[in-house]
Amino acid sequence: MIDRKFCPADPQRAAWAARCGLCGRELYDGDAFYAVNGLAVCEECLPAFAREEYRAFRVTGREWRMS
Ligand SMILES: [Zn+2]
Repeated sequence: MIDRKFCPADPQRAAWAARCGLCGRELYDGDAFYAVNGLAVCEECLPAFAREEYRAFRVTGREWRMS
């Protein structure tokens, strides 16, 4: 006999906790994501987000050798 009080909410019906600031994906209580300066970034969007954030640090081999 399962006590319904202790069953987790149906994820399809649960209200989302946050939305990814890049793709708009709904993020639920059990989802892990990155909270960056108040912006929610999902796992899938992190590489693109990081690439954009660190654009200023992008160098070529020549630039690296000359610095
Ligand atoms: Zn996303």
